[in-house]
Amino acid sequence: MPLPKVLVVEDNPANMELVYDLLTVAGYHVLTATTAERAIKLASTVKPDLVLMDIGLPGMDGLEATRRLKRNPTTAAIPIVCLTAHAMHGDEARARRAGCDGYLTKPLDARSLADDVAEFIVGIEHTNDDHD
Ligand code: MN
Repeated sequence: MPLPKVLVVEDNPANMELVYDLLTVAGYHVLTATTAERAIKLASTVKPDLVLMDIGLPGMDGLEATRRLKRNPTTAAIPIVCLTAHAMHGDEARARRAGCDGYLTKPLDARSLADDVAEFIVGIEHTNDDHD
């Protein structure tokens, strides 16, 4: 089986390095983008199994990028888990309205990130199975 592909969209180099290392060690093929524009291009060509989408990005933010990915038939089925540093009331609802399938709050828990990602991928595969 090929390694599951995860596209990580994150503009903070330290966070990117942490997520990249944790997911690579856990056996994922990690692709990276530091802007929403690049993420949208990569997602439609690479078709990752999951996108981890930072909300706060320079230029187009992660919520708008999520809306665009979910609107495009080529990328609509790719699960998107939003990452945000703003643990503010209403943020989860906003992320879900934009089309995020899941939500993780930063600072990320290094001990559970790989398991969290695996759960999102498995959960979504099971959901899809119901419709096959
Ligand atoms: Mn950011």
